[in-house]
Amino acid sequence: MLLFKQTEKLDSYLSRERKQGRTVGFVPTMGALHEGHLSLLRASRRENELTVCSIFVNPTQFNDPEDLRKYPRTIERDTELLASEGCDLLFWPTVGEIYPDGTKTADAPPLDLEGLDKRMEGAHRPGHFKGVVQVVHRLLDIVKPHRLYMGQKDFQQFTIIRHMIVRLQLPVDLVVGPTVREADGLAMSSRNRRLSPEARQSAPLIFQTLQQAAAQIHQLPPEKIRRQALEKLDAPPLRPEYFELVDGRTLMPVQSADQTDYIVACTAVWAEDIRLIDNTILKKPEDLRTI
Ligand code: AMP
Repeated sequence: MLLFKQTEKLDSYLSRERKQGRTVGFVPTMGALHEGHLSLLRASRRENELTVCSIFVNPTQFNDPEDLRKYPRTIERDTELLASEGCDLLFWPTVGEIYPDGTKTADAPPLDLEGLDKRMEGAHRPGHFKGVVQVVHRLLDIVKPHRLYMGQKDFQQFTIIRHMIVRLQLPVDLVVGPTVREADGLAMSSRNRRLSPEARQSAPLIFQTLQQAAAQIHQLPPEKIRRQALEKLDAPPLRPEYFELVDGRTLMPVQSADQTDYIVACTAVWAEDIRLIDNTILKKPEDLRTI
């Protein structure tokens, strides 16, 4: 595996590869890698001749400086894992490499997110999606992959990135991989390693509640499912922040199961001081190619 820290060097290497007709798959991450990340890497390796993974803890998407400071950084282990999984290139840039003019004045693409960034995660993490759009746009500009791999785990994130790709007509295909879970249902996340034993033991309730919502979608009104879920999740050390049943395209709450062909239950739950998110697709449109 080749390691690149500098944008220019990565760019000239990839330009040569692209000219020779090689297809490039790209898996952007913030490191502290787990099976969720590796499943995306494997999908990229199956579908492309060259796979690039990036590890960059993007400061502009953290609204909480403590969260940024405490974000796990395990670059040595990550590098070994990626090499053993057959990743071709690792891009591990500094903040200065991604934002040469500083993070305050860094460019963001001119793009109307049409409110997709205002609900759920956006409502609770102001500025978060602006930072996500900014960094993914910048990384795509550097790597110029044929295919971009993202996880369903971050449902609102990939929905917003898909919106960006469509609206800006970026020449890349978004491939969304299913959420990889622990045996007890907890969605894998780099933040899980910060859970106390008690919080870790309680955390599977999140997926159980999402599964219950999936079982009820054709029996109960969405609002009732939502209220029941919030009650169930209000179980210390867990504390729900939101539980919503939304239209997968607009991210607006649904009033009835018949209203749309794409319904997703999304939730954020505090487990002591760790914030966990998860989701389940309750109703999936036939043309949803990526999942
Ligand atoms: P992160 O390092 O948390 O920014 O995640 C990098 C990519 O991995 C994103 O596209 C995430 O959606 C994806 N990802 C994170 N956790 C999982 C998981 N448990 N299953 C599948 N994909 C995941």
